[in-house]
Amino acid sequence: MATRHLIVGAGPAGMYALETIRELDRDASITLLSDEAPYARMALPYYLCGEIPEAHLMYGDRAYFERMKVDTVFGRRVRSVDPKANQLTLDDGAELAYENLLIATGASATAPPIPGSGLPGVCHLWTLDDTRKALTNARKGADVVLIGAGFIGFIALNAVYKLGCRLAVVEREAQILPRMLDQTGASFVEGWLRERGVGVYTGTTVLAIEGSPEGRMRLGLRDGGALTADLVIIATGIRTNVDLLGGSGIEVNDGVVVDGRMRTNSANVYAAGDVAEGPDLLGGRAVHAIQPTAEDHGRIAGANMAGLDVTYEGSLLMNITDVAGLHCASFGLWTGDGREETVLANPGRCIYRKLVWEDDRVVGAILVGPVDDTSMLNDTGMVKGLIQTQVPLRAWKGYLLKNPLDVRRPYVASGAPAALLKRTLLGKPSRDKQYRFQGMRPTTRPTEAHRVLIGTRPDIKLL
Ligand SMILES: Cc1cc2nc3c(=O)[nH]c(=O)nc-3n(C[C@H](O)[C@H](O)[C@H](O)COP(=O)(O)OP(=O)(O)OC[C@H]3O[C@@H](n4cnc5c(N)ncnc54)[C@H](O)[C@@H]3O)c2cc1C
Repeated sequence: MATRHLIVGAGPAGMYALETIRELDRDASITLLSDEAPYARMALPYYLCGEIPEAHLMYGDRAYFERMKVDTVFGRRVRSVDPKANQLTLDDGAELAYENLLIATGASATAPPIPGSGLPGVCHLWTLDDTRKALTNARKGADVVLIGAGFIGFIALNAVYKLGCRLAVVEREAQILPRMLDQTGASFVEGWLRERGVGVYTGTTVLAIEGSPEGRMRLGLRDGGALTADLVIIATGIRTNVDLLGGSGIEVNDGVVVDGRMRTNSANVYAAGDVAEGPDLLGGRAVHAIQPTAEDHGRIAGANMAGLDVTYEGSLLMNITDVAGLHCASFGLWTGDGREETVLANPGRCIYRKLVWEDDRVVGAILVGPVDDTSMLNDTGMVKGLIQTQVPLRAWKGYLLKNPLDVRRPYVASGAPAALLKRTLLGKPSRDKQYRFQGMRPTTRPTEAHRVLIGTRPDIKLL
């Protein structure tokens, strides 16, 4: 018998869809199928640097899935989908029929064909297996080379930096974080890293990786240089997992093309998360391979699958990361592309900010600054709110141009907080995730990890 809802992929997009369907429909049959166990990829760096145990990565256990009344199939891949017959075929030849199908298969790491990349000390940081592999060589004092200086590469960099590894990063393009920061912002981050002993090699590539009997590796660079490493992490890009849709007639562009209801060109087939090319808040369609988009997509898809009629206003391109104590964020149309810009740069304190304008609305931004500068962190949230709400700033635009470090007044005066408070994805506040590791609730008590945000005064103690 056909399952009412078949979800392929147990990452955040699939899991949020599952919880939304179950919240709206207590009885419908749901099947969750994935080649991996359900876990949060974005938590892998915290596992790598020892801040959380492996069990904390998980999205659910047997008791949780029983409570949610979900049939699970883990460790199997979907090979093909036949939307006309409403069924799919697995890698072992088994067939599954559905009434509604959600494709939430995410993306996979890609790698350039570097000789030696199959050595045991070389890995990606994309899956749980990659992270387990990285953990065999990642330890204090180890030499780690990162190939690729993008968002994921820098998240990996930050994790191994926290572990106390000696680091070098190699980037093919002329600057680090090329799809997250402009040249000036990137130069600030590069200077910050060099001051902390991280080797930064831009405008070059790794030609080959050679192993040695002791396990140390030698990386030859195109510009003639060489690096040694105990661990090499490749983070050169990702591609959407759309292979299962070959020949299905489901439209694929950069990702699976979906409308505002997360529906593909086949009426009962939906897509969500990294694999989906959905509405962009600032216009058009895009693949935004980030957790918040996966969660939103999952909720919208789940609600529509369960019979509601809800439309997504779109995801916002955003990248936020901590780079060895330097906070870096960019949002929306941060490249500017000829639009009016307000720029503030203080190299002495490593502070860089850029706002991109369309009339009196902020449509893009870059913020770089030390992570213990709490005004930077607050402003990041407020600038994001201005972009998300697209409130006109009217006279407050002039104020912000003269006082680019005072975001708070224009933010409050423009009504952005009120506009944000009204926004809900499904017409009501979202429900908390129903799975907690060993029933643990999130703590509101500050821990050692919060010290940097509380202050550097030694006389101030954590509560
Ligand atoms: C190291 C790392 C750090 C990150 N940090 C951040 C961060 O700080 N902030 C942020 O916003 N985002 C971050 N991300 C990105 C974020 O994790 C992803 O955007 C998110 O996981 C996407 O969720 P998803 O459900 O679409 O896909 P996934 O989480 O990739 O889940 C999809 C699942 O489907 C499975 N699957 C694929 N094909 C098939 C098939 N044919 N049959 C069966 N199963 C299949 C996959 O194996 C996978 O288990 C990070 C990612 C990584 C790797």
